[in-house]
Amino acid sequence: MASINIIKDKCVGCRRCIAACPFGAIEVVDKKAVIGEKCTLCGSCTESCKFNAIIFERDEVENIDLSEYKGIWVFAEQRYGQLKNVSLELLGKARELAEVIKVKVTAVVLGHKIDSLGKELIAYGADEVLIIDEEWLNDFNDHIYGEIMVNLIEEYKPEIVLIGATSRGRSLAPHISSTVKTGLTADCTSLDMDLEKRLLVQTRPAFGGNLMAEIVCPYHRPQMATVRPKVFKPLKPDYMKQGKIIKVKKDPIEGFVKLIRNIDNEEGINLSDAEIIVSVGRGIGSEKNIRLAQELADALGGTLGSSRPLVDIGWMPYSRQVGQTGKTVAPKIYIACGISGAIQHLAGLADIETIIAINSDPDAPIFKIANYGIVGDVSEILPLVTEKIKGLNK
Ligand SMILES: Cc1cc2nc3c(=O)[nH]c(=O)nc-3n(C[C@H](O)[C@H](O)[C@H](O)COP(=O)(O)OP(=O)(O)OC[C@H]3O[C@@H](n4cnc5c(N)ncnc54)[C@H](O)[C@@H]3O)c2cc1C
Ligand code: SF4
Ligand code: SF4
Repeated sequence: MASINIIKDKCVGCRRCIAACPFGAIEVVDKKAVIGEKCTLCGSCTESCKFNAIIFERDEVENIDLSEYKGIWVFAEQRYGQLKNVSLELLGKARELAEVIKVKVTAVVLGHKIDSLGKELIAYGADEVLIIDEEWLNDFNDHIYGEIMVNLIEEYKPEIVLIGATSRGRSLAPHISSTVKTGLTADCTSLDMDLEKRLLVQTRPAFGGNLMAEIVCPYHRPQMATVRPKVFKPLKPDYMKQGKIIKVKKDPIEGFVKLIRNIDNEEGINLSDAEIIVSVGRGIGSEKNIRLAQELADALGGTLGSSRPLVDIGWMPYSRQVGQTGKTVAPKIYIACGISGAIQHLAGLADIETIIAINSDPDAPIFKIANYGIVGDVSEILPLVTEKIKGLNK
């Protein structure tokens, strides 16, 4: 494990290291620097000290032969035989990256009664598909799925593994990366190849979205990233495209968790694929006012979304949350009702044609990104807009 220490005899209490620490982990007490609990062992402060008083020891890097690892894998997530769009989006991106480093794209799909998915994955960009079709893989279990992926990675040695940042992908990816001892960049917003170094450049927001960080994984393999739905576009499927389908057999693995009931998406909401979203924020004022936004969504044939505070107080289910810790959405029209436009909310808005904001504060940040803005009380404006739309629908 990496470690950091201050050599007290060398430290003169100049405080330069305080400014260098992005986590506010250093303070100077009695003219000596002290590193506190917030330290993440990022190593950023070491070079700031002109007195060589900070000693940072990195983990020993295990030498692995990077040239043994070849090819790009996409974990093709499916639910009861239906592929998730994000996996098709990742295949499109994998295809693009594979052209740069001249390797194969492999889709890996686990489940039961999934034979037909092979052709579809090839049509969307895979050169080959590894299918593990077993009855005991019918329901997702992160331990079982994770162990199988680890086995496959150890056997086939891909250099890059891409996984959709869905609820399943988010629990599967860290299981794999921590077991095979490699890095994982979550929620990437862009992926590129550094051809010279043959490294995947993984871009994602950092420090609350104020910075975009470019992350590489130079010493470990595979290079792993998760990407949210709608960040990339799938290729146009080509059902004439030829590819190899490899059926892999595995002995059953025991999980630690038993599935009792599947309550996945009981409400049947698919916010990520909605064409029109009417989203409510704290400005809606009360739980009963949410119905005003629901009425507008119904009149438009749209879906109701939410900012996080309404989910936190229990007015809206998590499945409706848009943003950094919720869903990424890409509707044609997004109507933000009483939403301020915090960076974490905007992180969930991808590639939207028209944003309409209703807010009582003319200086609300949401107006900076909105195509159309209405300044006023959302509880007065929503019924007027709904009436108008209903009139047009007649
Ligand atoms: C790590 C992290 C992750 C986060 N993830 C998310 C996320 O995924 N999604 C998310 O949404 N947030 C997320 N947040 C929270 C985010 O920072 C904001 O706090 C949140 O988005 C604010 O929600 P809001 O716009 O509904 O509320 P507020 O910021 O309180 O804004 C309410 C708005 O309503 C307006 N208003 C008030 N009354 C009226 C009225 N009568 N009529 C019209 N307008 C009115 C106000 O002018 C204001 O602009 C996250 C925060 C952190 C730290
Ligand atoms: S920069 Fe170095 S000398 Fe200055 S307070 Fe930090 S550790 Fe001490
Ligand atoms: S290692 Fe990183 S987090 Fe820890 S004190 Fe230094 S700069 Fe701060």
